[in-house]
Amino acid sequence: MCDDCLFDTLHEECGVFGVYDRTLNVGHYTYWGLFALQHRGQESAGIALADEEGIDVVKGMGLLTEAIKKLPEKKGFIATGHVRYSTTGSNNPKNIQPLVIHFQGGDIAVAHNGNLTNALGARTRLEEAGSVFQTTMDSEVIVNLIARSRKSQVEERIIDATREIEGAYSLVINTTDKLIGVRDPNGFRPLCLGKTEHGYALSSESCALDAIKAEFVRDINPGEMVIIDDTGVHSRMIVDEKDLPKQASCVFEYIYFARSDSVIDKQSVYQARLNMGRELARETQYEADLVMSVPDSGTTAALGYAKESGIPYGEGLIKNRYMGRTFIKPDQKQRELAVRMKLNPVPSVIKGKRIVLIDDSIVRGTTSGIIVRMLKEAGAKEIYMCVSSPAIEYPCYYGIDTSVRKELIAATHTEEEVRQYIKADKLHYLSKDGLCRAISQIDCAHMCFACFDGQYAVDVPKEVDGGNKYALE
Ligand code: SF4
Repeated sequence: MCDDCLFDTLHEECGVFGVYDRTLNVGHYTYWGLFALQHRGQESAGIALADEEGIDVVKGMGLLTEAIKKLPEKKGFIATGHVRYSTTGSNNPKNIQPLVIHFQGGDIAVAHNGNLTNALGARTRLEEAGSVFQTTMDSEVIVNLIARSRKSQVEERIIDATREIEGAYSLVINTTDKLIGVRDPNGFRPLCLGKTEHGYALSSESCALDAIKAEFVRDINPGEMVIIDDTGVHSRMIVDEKDLPKQASCVFEYIYFARSDSVIDKQSVYQARLNMGRELARETQYEADLVMSVPDSGTTAALGYAKESGIPYGEGLIKNRYMGRTFIKPDQKQRELAVRMKLNPVPSVIKGKRIVLIDDSIVRGTTSGIIVRMLKEAGAKEIYMCVSSPAIEYPCYYGIDTSVRKELIAATHTEEEVRQYIKADKLHYLSKDGLCRAISQIDCAHMCFACFDGQYAVDVPKEVDGGNKYALE
């Protein structure tokens, strides 16, 4: 069990970032960019720094401040950064990104966000052909494919590699004279382009461009590769336009993963979450005394619910912001203590009240049950649990750690059984239609909803016991 499983949440995937600018200290700017992407991965971090002489890299385990205490000596003019939560390959120092290799075609650093669905087969074929792997990450398959390509230009090598891989990948890659961004043809994970003083930046989310005062230029399109060098930004497609599959951007970026202040594919994440709360209020029409959230991820939707319903919003749970990882693998009793350590009810706010409680998702249901009990013990009269997403019934294979199917409570229990399990007085999941209306700037047909409806845009591997995270180990 991972330490964070204590809290029964979904896990962010990874964050990627890169800067090309001959006038800036690009190592520092990448460090700040990764700070803004820390919510996407807290297990490890790394920065690769390049100039014409080569690529140096620093990496470490933990949060950015623990992982990177010093940057490489060289100033450099290209940098690639990565923050990681392990979705394929365990939480292990050898799996820290960016992966840097020296091969016949030169030096290259690769940072990957997403999960390849054919990693096992691709890796087996590469091993049979003589490749040696040093990590247990699917990302190393991409690096190997780039190195083995017979093309001379790095862009062509990358395109060759993408022809062999399937699934989700937003990549930031640098050589000693280029910064390259690639978004997979379905556009599962986000990637955007920003303008720095005399160069450009690439980022998983626009909030990191804001952090370094880069001007947002645009999202990288599904199936697009952008090449940044001294002559500017050049764009080309990694697949023919006629072969582009339907876009399948991850809807969970808007529900939970992305930072509220980011804009992804022209949709403000904050506005989408506010709208989810409004849609929940319209769907439920509950009579209640207080709207509150499970902080922080449910907070914006709770504000939307309060605005739409006219029911006052209050802070009935206070979050301990300094609760990091713990070595304790809890039994049921300790799990409850751990949740209490993280969230504490405020009796004066909740006593005697009928409460609409907003959370972004229910995965296994364990934490929700503990929170409902805590609130009732602190004096709440009734708890109406409202979830700002539909019920999660299927695992994700595109870069989110959602547990195996049998652990997802909604896969094996009806809504009424889940309500009884968490001991809420009412339970309501946002409908798919409500969610689509909330994400108003994007056509629903262009988003992935597979963890709700099992309609996977790219074929997925057979589920193995314990999940696919460790499939390469
Ligand atoms: S399966 Fe769910 S979490 Fe995974 S990409 Fe699709 S919507 Fe996102």
